[in-house]
Amino acid sequence: MTLVPFDDRDGSIWWDGRLIPWRDAKLHVLSHGLHYASAVFEGERAYSGNIFKLREHTDRLIESGRILGFEIPYSADQIDEACRLVLAESGLTDAYIRPLAWRGAEQLSVSAQQTTIHLMVAVWAWPNLFGADRMKGVRLGMAPWKRPHPETAPIRSKAAGLYMIGTMSKHAAEAAGFNDALMLDWRGQVSEATGANIFFVMDGALHTPIPDCFLDGITRRTVIALAHKRQIPVIERVIMPDEMAGAAEVFLAGSAAEVTPVRQIGTLEFAPGPITETLLRDYEALVRLSPDEVRTRLAA
Ligand code: PMP
Repeated sequence: MTLVPFDDRDGSIWWDGRLIPWRDAKLHVLSHGLHYASAVFEGERAYSGNIFKLREHTDRLIESGRILGFEIPYSADQIDEACRLVLAESGLTDAYIRPLAWRGAEQLSVSAQQTTIHLMVAVWAWPNLFGADRMKGVRLGMAPWKRPHPETAPIRSKAAGLYMIGTMSKHAAEAAGFNDALMLDWRGQVSEATGANIFFVMDGALHTPIPDCFLDGITRRTVIALAHKRQIPVIERVIMPDEMAGAAEVFLAGSAAEVTPVRQIGTLEFAPGPITETLLRDYEALVRLSPDEVRTRLAA
């Protein structure tokens, strides 16, 4: 696969209130966000021209910044509008949307009180993360890193710094021939993959870890709502790694990953099955609806 470098592409990027040519969206190397990871972001998908759950993503972006101690200088309406504008400008109807807020270069020390908060939104084509492998199911290796205790990291924030252990874990998994890594938390409980939440089908019910030290994903919540619609019981609970062998099916859920079956975790093998397939198809159908139809469909 040839990678097109992200700094050498055509198109426009929304940066601090205006669209600028993609290649001009450059940052000074002495930006606080780069040195101290004072950055938060979102990962969203547009389907048939609509950004799925846009307001939820925007609200989480704003909240992620607040958790890190900064206020993004745009309202939720303005951020939504920026995402829609840059999507329209891209000419794409199915795309990945990446808003990012970061601290600027006014001050370069642990203290960052004088820094300005910037916001950018970029859009690109990004077919499902696991591509052609998706229906067959992906293979997860066990991560060498643990999701941290909530008192040791801002776990409710989609903060750039939290992805450091994600990249290291994913690289270790890829080096061992897996597609992604399954992370345990600091207690040794099952938590999530490096960029998606995890679900297990056990005795006809969905079991998923309690999101008390990792993101309670927007897709996770959507899948839970879709399962309720199908009268599939959902149990949020502590899941220990040795219980995974008892799962009939396993899948991941995330904005980029969508609903993706898992066929292997370490030495355990799973066959993608009917509950995963039903929820995968329900999710695929849901994301194609208009925002109003999505609300109606998910309403109790
Ligand atoms: N966990 C992590 C670490 C993630 O990066 C993501 C993707 N944002 C998720 C879970 C799933 O979140 P969502 O469904 O809101 O995209």
